[in-house]
Amino acid sequence: LLEIDGLTKRFGGLVAVDDFDMTVERGEIVGLIGPNGSGKSTVFNCLMGIYNVTDGQIHFDGEEITNDSTHEIVNRGLSRVSQESNPIDDMTVRENIKLFTLPNSILAFSGGASDEEIAEYAARVDIEDQLEEHPGSMPHAGVRRLEIAKALATEPEMLLLDEPFAGMNQQEITELAAKMEEFREEGITQVVVDHNMGGLMGLVDRIVVINNGDFLAAGTPEEIAGDNDVQEAYLAGEVTQ
Ligand code: ATP
Ligand code: MG
Repeated sequence: LLEIDGLTKRFGGLVAVDDFDMTVERGEIVGLIGPNGSGKSTVFNCLMGIYNVTDGQIHFDGEEITNDSTHEIVNRGLSRVSQESNPIDDMTVRENIKLFTLPNSILAFSGGASDEEIAEYAARVDIEDQLEEHPGSMPHAGVRRLEIAKALATEPEMLLLDEPFAGMNQQEITELAAKMEEFREEGITQVVVDHNMGGLMGLVDRIVVINNGDFLAAGTPEEIAGDNDVQEAYLAGEVTQ
């Protein structure tokens, strides 16, 4: 479903992503892990057309999407939950979700999602009872769920989740992982970024490791857990932090 070939992103002299390759098959949940600053969010920003790539190609569903506009990419079926939550506090949860249906040309044409559709997106992450609340009054895990509901509201084929478990307690992590299993059953392919593989065990089919913008390793969670190169990269990362 997704094919990244030789992706390179430079910011001036800084090479954030360097000739990076990754493929994701339909129906998979793939983990993308790497130490701080290794380029994970930059890969997502390139996939979403937020950053123009310096070099390389991205294909989604057989079509090249490299440097397409974010609007086009969302309409093709890619959606991303950012590392930082950015709900609009002046709007209710309902209005925040509705706003995200507007990049979808079909829904935008009809003025965005109906109340019924919005309730359904919210129900998929169990926040349907908070639709009239403001995000500022919700706990962190609730706001993260709102961010996921916003991404679901564009009806994605593939969901990119950037550190979805950050700041959550173990129960919240377990609950969210169960939701991600449900998304998989609904047919949504997922890529999950995390610092380390802790929260991904038992959830992802495969893990890809990125280090200094470079592809480092790929394999099952068990293979990655036992990979010496990966452990060394993490130890090196800790020393420089
Ligand atoms: P973290 O785990 O901390 O979220 P990350 O793996 O997501 O890290 P990125 O945010 O992709 O890492 O950053 C990779 C490198 O690119 C870093 O050195 C970062 O400072 C740099 N970088 C990212 N975005 C920009 C930008 N807009 N302008 C300049 N440098 C950037
Ligand atoms: Mg990041």
